[in-house]
Amino acid sequence: LKRVNIVGAGLAGVEVAWKLAKEGISVRIFEQKPLKFSPVHKSKYFAELVCSNSLKSESLENAEGVLKQEMKMLDSIILHCAEKHRVPAGKALAVEREGFSKCITDIISSFPTVEVINEEVKSIDLDTNEIWVIATGPTTDGEFAKWLSKITDGFLNFFDAVAPIISGESINFDVCFFGNRYGEGGGDYVNCPMTKEEYERFHEELLKAEKIEMKDFDKSLLFERCQPIEEIANTGKKSLAYGPLRPVGFLDPRTGKRPYAIVQLRKEDEAGNMYNIVGFQTRLKWKEQERIIRLIPGLENAEILRYGVMHRNTYINTPKVLDKYLRHKKYRNLFFAGQIVGVEGYLESAASGIYVGLNINRVLNGKELITFPEKTMIGALIRYVTTATDLKPMYANFGLVNVKTELRNKKERRKFLSNICIEEMKKFVDMLK
Ligand code: FAD
Repeated sequence: LKRVNIVGAGLAGVEVAWKLAKEGISVRIFEQKPLKFSPVHKSKYFAELVCSNSLKSESLENAEGVLKQEMKMLDSIILHCAEKHRVPAGKALAVEREGFSKCITDIISSFPTVEVINEEVKSIDLDTNEIWVIATGPTTDGEFAKWLSKITDGFLNFFDAVAPIISGESINFDVCFFGNRYGEGGGDYVNCPMTKEEYERFHEELLKAEKIEMKDFDKSLLFERCQPIEEIANTGKKSLAYGPLRPVGFLDPRTGKRPYAIVQLRKEDEAGNMYNIVGFQTRLKWKEQERIIRLIPGLENAEILRYGVMHRNTYINTPKVLDKYLRHKKYRNLFFAGQIVGVEGYLESAASGIYVGLNINRVLNGKELITFPEKTMIGALIRYVTTATDLKPMYANFGLVNVKTELRNKKERRKFLSNICIEEMKKFVDMLK
């Protein structure tokens, strides 16, 4: 069998490696860490979660829940290790990030057919009969980005943002309280209630705070799902109270009344030593982050363990450059997986890795390449990124699934679509056996 070379052991790269290594295929993984770290990568392990530790909702009324269910059917290594290292987070699947990434690293590295080379790849010689997979993610840069841009007709870029993490110890529990919205599923989140006056002062100071200006920064390129808090604040006085700070479903135990606004903190680790501030992605200067966060009631002594950062996100023009199997239209031994193809999110990136791994396995076994049914969440996502006329980074959502329904009730509609996706994936997985 031919060897498969994977550049990048992120969320997507490890799923490709896992699919192939399990079949006894010889795999070489090139990973630049720990020799070189991007501005957002910090850990020496594979499949690093660079921002939130949440893999989002598990509810099957939610597109992310459906995506996870499909990935489980396809034996995802990400979800295998996520199960082992989960921390409580209401309806979401959140993980203790270090244990999660180590679990994946240990499993992948333990295969005798897997060789890990810690090296920054600068270019690839495609004139060989080996297969290559590029899974270098949204922070692809330097020499490699230059080489890549030559074979992909240039890049498309957008910006994304990361929320700060504070220490659990520094939270004032005389003010903040545990609880999930509408009291559902226990009390995994810490909530910091705000009065109208406190909220207005916070909003005002946030607007005045100093931001890091980026040379090529372009507001219109900000991705709506990861909008920095100060950008949301800029859209109106009440935008935060109706957005990430909405108080619905909460009563302040001190007053018995609904607060004017709520800042939520989500556990980063099982022990509750670290909390991220939900929805607080930011490009404020670090000193300003401290000042602004300390205006939140209960966080007046907040100790910031990791500051929020702004970063550039790179992806290629997939519909133009790749075929429906995420293979280069010209270089037939070159595949792409992960965020670089225009999917957005940890799980979406991992799912594209499963797709590519499965197809490379077929190539090596002399089988026809295969697409996933379009009525599955993964199939719909891949279809979007390979056919979109104006590709925008895309996360799993029911709008991608091309099924007509008369159902107007949102809950019923979602249940209906979710059932279709899961049934279609079941049939597909049976067919693969
Ligand atoms: P990555 O996981 O980034 O993996 C790429 C790997 O390739 C890295 O290990 C890197 O070191 C390696 N590499 C890169 N270049 C080279 C080279 N030349 N040679 C060798 N190795 C190389 N998604 C969410 O669902 N939730 C979030 O909260 C979230 N927050 C994000 C915050 C930031 C700052 C960014 C950048 C993205 C965020 N995303 C989030 C989106 C995204 O889905 C993740 O970045 C995801 O990790 C992408 O997976 P990937 O496998 O494509 O790339």
